[in-house]
Parts: sequence; C-alpha cells; structure tokens
Amino acid sequence: MADVAENLWTAHPTHTLRAGTDFDLAAFDRNGTPGWAGDKRQAKAFMAQRGKLLSELQERLFADGRTGGDRSVLLVVQGLDTAGKGGIVRHVLGMVDPQGVSLRSFGVPTAEEKRHHYLWRIRRALPEAGRIGVFDRSHYEDVLVVRVEDLVDEDVWSGRFDEINRFEQKLADSGTTIIKVALMVSYEEQGLRLMERLDRPDKYWKFNPGDVDTRKSWDAYQAAYSDVFARTSTDVAPWHVIPADRKWYSRLAVTELLTKALVDLDLDWPRPRWKVETQKRRLAATMSEASVAEAEASAGQTLAEVRAAEAQFDAAVARAAALAQRPPAQTPAAASGDRPGPTDETVKDEVSTKDRADDADQTAAGDGRRQAQKRPKAKKSADGQKAKKGKDRRRSKKGEKAAKTKKGKKKASVGR
Ligand code: AMP
Ligand code: MG
Repeated sequence: MADVAENLWTAHPTHTLRAGTDFDLAAFDRNGTPGWAGDKRQAKAFMAQRGKLLSELQERLFADGRTGGDRSVLLVVQGLDTAGKGGIVRHVLGMVDPQGVSLRSFGVPTAEEKRHHYLWRIRRALPEAGRIGVFDRSHYEDVLVVRVEDLVDEDVWSGRFDEINRFEQKLADSGTTIIKVALMVSYEEQGLRLMERLDRPDKYWKFNPGDVDTRKSWDAYQAAYSDVFARTSTDVAPWHVIPADRKWYSRLAVTELLTKALVDLDLDWPRPRWKVETQKRRLAATMSEASVAEAEASAGQTLAEVRAAEAQFDAAVARAAALAQRPPAQTPAAASGDRPGPTDETVKDEVSTKDRADDADQTAAGDGRRQAQKRPKAKKSADGQKAKKGKDRRRSKKGEKAAKTKKGKKKASVGR
C-alpha cells in the first residue's frame, strides 16, 4: 500500500483531542481542525487511503479473533442530535468489512431494559473477540440525558461515574481497547442542521420534535458533558473531544484514532496449528497432476506478491505509528489558548514552523464560520444575520449536491 495522498497531520488526535484534567468545554472551538494542516479535499483523499490500511488492520483483528485471540476494540460515539454520530458509522466504519463490525445504537431503554441495571444492555452489546464494536450512544446516556431530564436522583447518577470507570477498567483488562469520542457541535451549527432536516422531505425521518426540547436544554447538556469528561477520562479509556462543525474533520480524526488503536494491537497473521507441508500433500493427493503442477508454478509468484504487500503494509503501519508517538507540537490554537488542556505543553519538534504556518493559512482562508460555540443568548442577539447565513449555507449545500449529480465537479460551495 504505497502512500499517495499526503498525510497532513501535524499532531495526532490522540494527543490534541484528548480531554485532560483541565479540559474546558466552554472554551472549546467546535469549528476547529486541530492538528490537520490541510483542507477538506485533502482530508477526503487521505481518509480514503487510511481506509485501506484500516481495512487490512481490521482483517488481522478478525483473523486473531477467529483463532483464539481475545482482543477487540470498542468505539464509543457520543454527541447531541446532529453531531454526526451516524456519519462516523457510515464513513469511518463503512471503510472496513462489515463482518468485522458490531454496531449497537442505544435509545430510550425498552421495558425489559428498564427492569435491569443500566449496564445490563451495555454488557450484552460488547464486541466479541476480533470485532470492532461501535456504540452509537452508550452507557454515558445514563449520566447525560438521565441527569438533564431528571430521570433519576442526583445521588444515583453521580455514583455512576466511578462505576463506569470500574466497568471500563475491567473491560480493558479483558482485552478490549476502548476509544471514546464525543462529537461536539456548536449551538449555531446544530440549529442549522436541524433546520435542514425540516427543509428536506428526504430528511424528515431524522427529525424528532423532541430534538427541539433537547436543544432547549443546551446548557444543561454542556454541563453534563463537562462532568463526563472530568470524571471519566481515564488512562485506559480516555475521552477524545472532537470538533464536529466540520463533518469531514470529525470523520478524519476518528479514522486516525481507530487506526492508532489497531496499530497498537500489533497483530500478526495467526500461525497455523497444522503443518503447511502436510496439508499441501494431503490436498495434492486429491488433485490431478496437471492441477498440482499449475499450482506449483504460480506459488512462487503469489508468495512474492504477498511479501511485497506485507512490506508496504508494515511501512504504512510504521508511518502511522510514528505520527501517534510524536509528542504534540504547539499549534496556533493551543498557543492562543483556544484549546486548553494537556496539549498546552509546548513540545517543539521537526514539524513545527512550516506546518504551523500552513495550518494558520488554512484556518485563515477558512469559511468565516470559525466562531466559538454560540449560546442561546448570543443566538438571540444576532438572529437576523445568523438566519441569513444559514439560508446561504443550505442553498450552497443544495447547489453542491446538484452540481454533483450533473457530474459537474466544480466546487459549488466556495464559501465552505
Ligand atoms: P437517536 O440517537 O437520535 O435515535 O435518539 C435516541 C434517544 O434515546 C435520544 O434522545 C437519547 O437521549 C435517548 N436515550 C438513550 N439512552 C437513554 C437512556 N439511558 N435513558 C433515557 N433516554 C435515553
Ligand atoms: Mg436524534
């Protein structure tokens, strides 16, 4: 797998997006692209390439599980309505063999689920060995919606943080790599995305009148998420807080986190428990001489191809691992205090100057939507202007779709 698309990560999301002890959600830029020095087009190209690596890594995990290995990966995806949870499943997990993925979505507990402990349905949904499990919402709803909606008393939900940590520790000890991602969309962007659902008959199905009620509890959800990050971002299961106003970025970042998790498993192809030569002889005895000769003639070539592909794979893995190991460079966002947290530690490395300049360029040339999250109050004060912006944006999005269907590859949404 020769790398063609450019890897424009300057700092790995495992460092830049990890919620450390002093993480401040209120100051978090939801429109940012931390660590990525490229644009959307470059991100898509790189993601497609990562997809091939991811797919090979996933096949190794699957093979390991089939042959007695006990490892699995669990990707926990949290986020408010419209944050892009479904898009992560479709665009990131969609790049690997569906056989190897076990997806579970968690909604309002059923009558049966309500009769059990809140972790009951979670335990039953954990990935088998060899699988990548994906939770679209999770046990965290039991300290989020349950808290905001006052479904249980505070002394009940507040005891759940430690319980969840113990649960995840045990899970990790049993061989599951846990990746937790929280997609954080801004208040303004969520409004636009919900409105788009109401503007499009093909998206009505995604809308639920309750989404507007949930949105009215925005501040309460932000407080609840802040506590989740403060209380449950542990060494074995850290939270990664992902800016989600640009869907391409959140997908790219989650792809990189998943790739790292699989690279870290360091899996080889399973060794056979039988002797290859013995089995070859047994099989050959059932074949015609001509067939055996034909197989023998192509065996050398096949093996050479496999070895070459393996060498490329190993090189791609080594490059991906090197990026993750590199300590975070100080990004402009971190420098300006945009993203407080553990990434603030200034560690300079060879990436620094040029990449940081590129990053700044890209950001400046961005779409003008780069603003801190909008709170309900801010929204009101600038209503007229925001509404217009929203309209323009939706129009340009539609234009983009139209252009695509007409095979017009021209960028319809220059403003994005
Ligand atoms: P969606 O993911 O948009 O299909 O919606 C699922 C809904 O189920 C969301 O409104 C969640 O807040 C809700 N939900 C998920 N888990 C729980 C839970 N443990 N208790 C109450 N509501 C939940
Ligand atoms: Mg929903």
